[in-house]
Amino acid sequence: MIRFLDLHKINERYRTEVNLVIERVLSSGVYILGEENDIFCKDFANFCGVKHAIGVANGMEALNLIIKGYGLSAGDEIIVPANTYIASILAISECGCTPVLVEPSMDTYNINPDLIEEKITSRTKAIMVVHLYGQVVPMKKIWHLAKKYNLKVIEDAAQAHGAMYAGRMAGNLGDAAGFSFYPGKNLGCLGDGGAITTNDNDLADKIRAVRNYGSHIKYHNLYRGINSRLDEIQAAILRVKLLHLQTDNERRHEIAKYYRENIKNESIILPQVGDELVHVWHLFVIRVRNRKKFQNYLAEHGVQTMIHYPVPPHKQPAYKEWNHLSFPITEQIHNEVVSLPMSPVLTKSEMNKIVELLNDPSLNSF
Ligand SMILES: *Cc1c(COP(=O)(O)O)cnc(C)c1O
Repeated sequence: MIRFLDLHKINERYRTEVNLVIERVLSSGVYILGEENDIFCKDFANFCGVKHAIGVANGMEALNLIIKGYGLSAGDEIIVPANTYIASILAISECGCTPVLVEPSMDTYNINPDLIEEKITSRTKAIMVVHLYGQVVPMKKIWHLAKKYNLKVIEDAAQAHGAMYAGRMAGNLGDAAGFSFYPGKNLGCLGDGGAITTNDNDLADKIRAVRNYGSHIKYHNLYRGINSRLDEIQAAILRVKLLHLQTDNERRHEIAKYYRENIKNESIILPQVGDELVHVWHLFVIRVRNRKKFQNYLAEHGVQTMIHYPVPPHKQPAYKEWNHLSFPITEQIHNEVVSLPMSPVLTKSEMNKIVELLNDPSLNSF
């Protein structure tokens, strides 16, 4: 079986280094907010080209802390793509703010910048862009709208470590960005982890306190904070893996190129890449009309696929008040997308086998 994503194989490559750094943390006697966190955050800020990176417990809380850091709460509206992974939207709701859903573009699956302005009201405070599947949102129009209406731009960069737009890294395309280091992400640790990147000194200062019970100095609490920290073992592992991120992303790039050049089946819609950007192929997402049949066919022939995501947020029981709403592009995407195996450890022969299967002329159309 060709696995959709073989996390063990991905991490096995770093066994020696990972064991070494775990030993190092064990011996240090410092397990939370120590040197590993400081160094990793400096390295990651440099990587993204920003002044600050702040380690936190996971990607959703990274987004949460940005919203809280800007003082947004009940009554404030935040624009967000309707087809995102639900964590982006949950992060907004959790702060008491109102998520305002906007349809994506059918060609990139990212928020359609032309549909944002009509959703802006006097209560709108921010636009949350989500660089879905590893492709950055074309930011030009977003920047223009943010300036015109005085809005914050928050990036959900959980799927876009190393992606670029107009020569700038994801994480440096808005006022602040949230990253996730969940194991399956392009830069993943061996547990939960996340970070916020920003050039905003005041925001960084506040979030550093808020993620640590609201205190800069132990037992002195400036804010009603939370506990959301990146632990030393995860930070140390991320230091190791950050060194290999660009190489891994290049490998993803080669696989995507191979798929895009060699898959020739009229019933499969391949992903498109916008201008002026570097896609990091967190996921390789195609569309087919008869998804069930397609997935079964691949499974029968030893290829595991996944769906990102099967149910759109506005159709989830968690958001009952939205269930009657209609977002036709979002719904079509959720009905048709399938993710092919994509990871830096996918072999040439596995890629070949997948392409051969998909191109088999004896196939009925999907
Ligand atoms: C993974 C992910 C998140 C949440 O990150 P966690 O670390 O799992 O909390 C948020 N948004 C998007 C788009 C994601 O893919």
